[in-house]
Amino acid sequence: MSVDRSTIWPYRDGEPGEFYYQRHAHPTGVEAERELGRLEGGRALLFPSGAGATTAFALAFLSPGKTLALAEGAYFGTGQTFEELGRWGLRVVEFDQTGSPPEGADFVWLEAPSNPFLTMPDLEAAAAHPARVLVDATAATPVFLRPLEHGADFVLHSATKYLAGHDDAQLGVVACKREEDAARLHELRTRTGIVAAPDPAYLLLRGLKTLEVRVRRQTETATELARRLREHPAVEIVRYAGIGGLLSFDVAGAEEARHVETSLKVITNATSLGGVDSLLEARARWEPERVPAGLLRLSVGLESPEELWADLEQALDFPGNSLARE
Ligand code: PLP
Repeated sequence: MSVDRSTIWPYRDGEPGEFYYQRHAHPTGVEAERELGRLEGGRALLFPSGAGATTAFALAFLSPGKTLALAEGAYFGTGQTFEELGRWGLRVVEFDQTGSPPEGADFVWLEAPSNPFLTMPDLEAAAAHPARVLVDATAATPVFLRPLEHGADFVLHSATKYLAGHDDAQLGVVACKREEDAARLHELRTRTGIVAAPDPAYLLLRGLKTLEVRVRRQTETATELARRLREHPAVEIVRYAGIGGLLSFDVAGAEEARHVETSLKVITNATSLGGVDSLLEARARWEPERVPAGLLRLSVGLESPEELWADLEQALDFPGNSLARE
């Protein structure tokens, strides 16, 4: 399909058609939403970023005085978005998503697997809770997890990551189980203008064509790298959920983490995840109060596993550090 960048479409016989003003809907976005809905088994809506999707979702379905139970260790930016919304009267309590959500919560927010701690939520326990449930499945992707089939009411993605897959499109998605929820979210989106543009929607459509082959290959490589990292003497702990290309591992401290970041030759020292190029960064620069100083997050791309391992091995060879040489 080609990109239609129009912001207006003429009325037909004096009446607006499916497309009349871009803030309401545009053909490239609708096409991408159709494909995303098919992947998730629900009704999908596109947003200009994952954070934008979170904000739109909160404005549409949460209200002042309500309590949101948020998975501990979920993407720190999601916590920051809700912190902003705290000024509007939303309460947030964190809980361990590997168990049951707290009693009294009005809404449950899970992340599968969590970024960067890589815990998986107990979806069954969440579905048994009376509150409605959203799963941020950015790192799992619909190739490995379709939360709407496990009792969730909503699934959210930063489509900037695996869905678009090439680090060149910023987008978010919410897929709803119920048609009436999708209609409400669409209405809020049009009214607030939290809308995705046609060009990134086109890049998303192109990325989706290779989603499955990309994430299966990234999973294979990540599984092998996690295995080798676990055996490496300079690595203290490896976190990997067994699905997807995202993992994290700890070296001794900030100095060692900086050495790895600045020694890499194949893997790019940059933030984000889910693209075809491998990325690594020390997360303490962004979230020092909750991650160890030596925690390195690795997003595995499509390079050869041997090339990636050789890069990690040479970066983990700390000069003068007896740990690395034991
Ligand atoms: N959810 C998860 C799990 C993420 O990792 C991110 C970004 O890193 C987001 C949501 C926010 O998405 P975006 O950066 O597209 O706003």
